[in-house]
Amino acid sequence: MIARRGILVKLHLTRGIWYNAGMEYTLIRCSRKTAALRVTPGGWLEVRAPRLMPKAAIDGFVEANAAWIARQRAKLEKVHRAASDAGALTEADIKELAERMRKVLPQKLARIAESMGVGYGRVSVRCQRSKWGSCTAEGNLNFNCLLMLAPEEVLDYVLIHELCHRRHMDHSKEFWADVERLDRNYREHKKWLRENGAVLMRRVHKGENNA
Ligand SMILES: [Zn+2]
Repeated sequence: MIARRGILVKLHLTRGIWYNAGMEYTLIRCSRKTAALRVTPGGWLEVRAPRLMPKAAIDGFVEANAAWIARQRAKLEKVHRAASDAGALTEADIKELAERMRKVLPQKLARIAESMGVGYGRVSVRCQRSKWGSCTAEGNLNFNCLLMLAPEEVLDYVLIHELCHRRHMDHSKEFWADVERLDRNYREHKKWLRENGAVLMRRVHKGENNA
């Protein structure tokens, strides 16, 4: 517990507060019928509660969910530790990743798009802490340069995923069937991102979102 606090305290300096035994939280009153919890990426607890819910009932709700909160924090701690073991990415690192990505993308995208018979618009490369790629209704594509630190099949999966949005702007069964046609092991690649993606994103410090 001590170690966990030590790690997370560092990440929380900007807010100037941290939890005692995990039970402090930010209370957000809103027009909902039941209370809900959220552990932020920095480990802080947020509680959304109905306007008239008594404070004691909210505290009870938080306590009743202590095990869930601890699990979320343990997961975050693992991510934070792995990211700090791997080391923060400097601005120069990010620039280099983005440059490398801009070099490899055109050929890869052209090949996949051609095999699917779809076109696409502008392609941009960014360093983001929230997403791996996106595709607008106009077909403009955006990719996260951190994918250059993932296995190449994972990068290819993200390119395929976004290009499949040229056919389906949703995640329907048909969309996934298209993805699978181009990437038989897409489930494994999705899983890789789920398991390792947060660590990659954590290695980027806030404010460095543009490369
Ligand atoms: Zn998608």
